[in-house]
Amino acid sequence: MFFPYYFDPTYILLIPAILLALYAQTKVQTTYSRYLRVPSRRGMTGAEAAREVLYRNQIYDVKVEQIHGRLTDHYDPRTKTLRLSPEVYGSSSLAALGIAAHEAGHAIQHAYEYFPLQLRNTIVPIANIGSNLAIPLLLLGILLGLPNLALIGVLAFSLAVLFQLITLPVEFNASNRAIEALETSGIIYPDEVRPTRKVLSAAALTYVAATIMAVMQMMRLLILSGLVGRRRRH
Ligand SMILES: [Zn+2]
Repeated sequence: MFFPYYFDPTYILLIPAILLALYAQTKVQTTYSRYLRVPSRRGMTGAEAAREVLYRNQIYDVKVEQIHGRLTDHYDPRTKTLRLSPEVYGSSSLAALGIAAHEAGHAIQHAYEYFPLQLRNTIVPIANIGSNLAIPLLLLGILLGLPNLALIGVLAFSLAVLFQLITLPVEFNASNRAIEALETSGIIYPDEVRPTRKVLSAAALTYVAATIMAVMQMMRLLILSGLVGRRRRH
């Protein structure tokens, strides 16, 4: 094989990103489990809190439903449905309220046409195509000695990097909206803000890790394609 995957030194670039991703994954699991056991004093459930946050933002056409699984909570913009996992839907823990309000935050972004969310939704299909085509194009470019083809591969991958980058403001904004809404509506008390924020910050770190991973992967591809870091051979 022309492409020595197992002895490829550029893999070293990925190690810090992999470590950060592992740390973030552990952090989100432990923080979530911890605050799932801390009940909010007011005692609203995740589902009630999500509905309250939506109503306060004059959003009346978003359904709140329960779905199976753990940490499977999400907002589906196509059907305007907020789906909460059983642990979040019926629990009045700080973790449940934070996550429910975060997903409501995505529904608010959708309703008020928050620009980074629109941009992200627009590039999803091209980013998917780009990340699927990037490696084959790059390999073909290297094998056939066509640097321009390799460059197209790297550019295709940059769409996936762009998607990860745009995800960051979308996620941070949803969490900020969540904390603000929970606090101003009195669903959580001021001293419950910090622990609730911890759950959302841990979740945000996984997106940061994914972005760094994508950027480092992009660096690898640039080096492998011969576009940077190597002298051109004739
Ligand atoms: Zn989110």
